[in-house]
Amino acid sequence: MTLPLSLVNTTLDYPDGDGTSTALDDVSLQVGAGSIVALAGPSGSGKSSLLAVAATLIRPTSGLVLLDGVDATALAPRDTAALRREKIGIIFQQPNLLAALTALEQLQIASHLRGLPPKRSRTRALELLDVVGLAGYAHRRPHQLSGGQRQRVNIARALMGSPSVLLVDEPTSALDHERSEAVVRLLVRLTREFGLATVMVTHDLEFIPLTDAVASMRDGRLGPPVPAARP
Ligand code: ADP
Ligand code: MG
Repeated sequence: MTLPLSLVNTTLDYPDGDGTSTALDDVSLQVGAGSIVALAGPSGSGKSSLLAVAATLIRPTSGLVLLDGVDATALAPRDTAALRREKIGIIFQQPNLLAALTALEQLQIASHLRGLPPKRSRTRALELLDVVGLAGYAHRRPHQLSGGQRQRVNIARALMGSPSVLLVDEPTSALDHERSEAVVRLLVRLTREFGLATVMVTHDLEFIPLTDAVASMRDGRLGPPVPAARP
């Protein structure tokens, strides 16, 4: 069976003065469909770099990035971008929504970029807003939504392209405890429902038991994923 996400011996060096500094040091990670892996580790350990490499936003210095078995590092930039649109959903820390657009429009833009016909795009956007618990909020603009609701719009938008892989960077850092837990539970449910391979960077260790496995980063090195203890 082909895994949705597989990083194989990836190394990432950033230029640093006359030399380089290593953000990822021989990192390998496999994530199967329908499973969510938490990524923990101190600030500066390479978590965001790992997500950027997995998202094909940064090409690793060496190693492979396989998305549904296709090696993104072997593709021309244009083909990499097409593969990213097809395979990857990304959720950043802050829901970077456009202030002038309604929740529905934020999602429609995402599918417009993928060439979906407007009517199908609207139907899918409304479905996804319903899935994340925002039926009835489709016509609200960001300032008319709470922080948790904005993050849900962000999550729904990431799913518009029907990705195989969902990459999430500290989704709860702008939220209070209760809303944070609700967002993590939502990500777990979506992972199951849509058969996503999800990697979630988190500094909230208490939410790790909601996920399937946790892998820890330190100084660019990734420890082996261990099962997340169930409460
Ligand atoms: P984390 O998300 O765990 O805080 P990052 O992946 O952001 O870690 O950073 C890992 C290392 O790479 C850090 O030492 C950081 O300073 C460095 N780094 C991150 N982004 C860049 C960049 N664009 N240019 C140079 N160095 C970077
Ligand atoms: Mg980071």
